Amino acid sequence: MQITIIASGSGGNATLFASRGTRVLVDAGVGPRVLGQCLAAAGAGGAPGWVPDAIVVTHAHADHVGVAARYNKKHKIPVYASEATARAAELGDPERVRLFSPREPFAIGALTFSPRPLPHDAAQVALVVDDGARRAALATDLGEIPPGLLEHVAGCDVLMLESNYDDDMLDVGPYPQHLKRRIRSARGHLSNAQACALLAALPGGTHTVALMHLSENNNRPDLALDAARDALAGRRARLLAAPPRGPLVLDTAPPPGAARAPLSPPRQLDLFSAM
Ligand SMILES: [Zn+2]
Ligand SMILES: [Zn+2]
Repeated sequence: MQITIIASGSGGNATLFASRGTRVLVDAGVGPRVLGQCLAAAGAGGAPGWVPDAIVVTHAHADHVGVAARYNKKHKIPVYASEATARAAELGDPERVRLFSPREPFAIGALTFSPRPLPHDAAQVALVVDDGARRAALATDLGEIPPGLLEHVAGCDVLMLESNYDDDMLDVGPYPQHLKRRIRSARGHLSNAQACALLAALPGGTHTVALMHLSENNNRPDLALDAARDALAGRRARLLAAPPRGPLVLDTAPPPGAARAPLSPPRQLDLFSAM
């Protein structure tokens, strides 16, 4: 399964999952033009007029759902969402809206999506995407790590996890107090330290970790990556930070040599920052 992160952060989110002829865009925070440009840059398609087979929307915030209705109405592709998201957001022609339960797996072509509710100030889900051979997990827009999330994502080849803000940067940053409170709340966003708590507890099997939805005001990729590298200490995992605009291409197949490589000490972890 190939994963192309098109955009990640409050300016828009979109991640394409492709395997065995099925291509599904999770979140529609960018339009077809940016999508095409990113895919062309990634060498992953993107011919003029190209659209994915379906859109899956994680929640009703504009940076995730923004362009979903246009894909539905103009390009006539189905949009999958939970009932709560469908109630809260404009998704286009109801005939092409497919509802999923936030706790029940559903299939789109070759891909199976397993959602799990996340605590956020809109009904939100984490998704594990399985193509029958490999699995990838995407969890962003969560105020805290809920019980069961670790088990839900454990063993996934690729983990894409929110690492939204650095505590100190948020403290001294330009946001008004009410917004700082909202971000920090249990229904806000995940800090670097909270992401690290999950990474430190992650069992084996994950060969790639991508930090997602980094705040451009309250975080820096080097801070998020340093903290995550420490949390993953002793584990061999490729670590990256998703930029606000991609493409960033990940593959669920282990990187060459990974299977035979011995555990490396932390300082020798493969570290690739996209920033
Ligand atoms: Zn978001
Ligand atoms: Zn959100």
